[in-house]
Formats: sequence, structure tokens, C-alpha cells
Amino acid sequence: MKKIIIYIDMDDVLANFTHSYNYNREIAPEIKYPQGKLGFFKNLEPIPGAVESVNILQRLPTVDTYILTAPSTRNPHSYSEKRVWVEKHFNYEFTKKLIICSNKSLLKGDILIDDNIYGKGQDQFEGELIHFGNETYNNWEDIMTYLTGIQLRYILNK
Ligand SMILES: [Mg+2]
Repeated sequence: MKKIIIYIDMDDVLANFTHSYNYNREIAPEIKYPQGKLGFFKNLEPIPGAVESVNILQRLPTVDTYILTAPSTRNPHSYSEKRVWVEKHFNYEFTKKLIICSNKSLLKGDILIDDNIYGKGQDQFEGELIHFGNETYNNWEDIMTYLTGIQLRYILNK
């Protein structure tokens, strides 16, 4: 059976980039780009519900879940720190599902969950783009409700 391929963005979908960015700007306003600092990406807090939801998705036999994140290209550490973050909050196995790519439209799949709808190829993604953080999909609970519906329809159509 072909699985539903789901890509999940990292910054502000799994990891709370904005919270950390704002906090760092507040405590050290002289640093304009705190996301360039060593340790910034590694130490991001998870978005509420994100880790639990992805763990559920990973257990579903009909779903193949990947993380699809664009790098912070001016910060070379962002590449390795994103990898470290995934192992810290999930496990080593899930690091094999981490894709770091600046053009998300190149990846083949069914669903992309992202808080940005353009800028990194999101608008050209071949599947369905779910806009995380908008009114309909405000949080992970909304996302999981929607995905459960898709999964049921998918199984019933088999
Ligand atoms: Mg993002």
C-alpha cells in the first residue's frame, strides 16, 4: 500500500523559532540576528503538541513522515544543530527523516505542513500545503484532527 507522504517544516511548526528570536532580541538588542549564534537552533523549545503529534504520525502504518526544513544559510551551525534537535526531541532513527533543503517544491509528496506559504518553494509544492498557524490550522490539535480525517478517507477508499 502506498503511504501518504507528509513533510513537516521545522521552524515555528516543530521548534519555537519566534519565541527564542524575540527573547534573544529582548535580552541582547545589539545582536540583530540571534539565529546566527552558536546554539540557537539546538536550544529551541518544541511547539506545544508537536512532538506528541509527530510521534503519533510515525506510528501510523499509512503515513510516511519527514521533516523538511530550509537551512539558515548564513549560519553553518544551523545544519548540524537541526540534526541534533531532532535526536534530542525524538530519537536517532528520526534523524534519517530530516531533509534540509532551500526549495521545498523539489520534494515529491502529498502534504506539506508549513507556517510560511511561500519563500522556500512552498507555493510550488506538488501536494497539499497546510498553512500552520492560520485560523483553520491554528495548532497541532487542529492539524491532527484534519490528518485523522484524511487518513480515514484514505483507508476507506482502499
Ligand atoms: Mg517555518
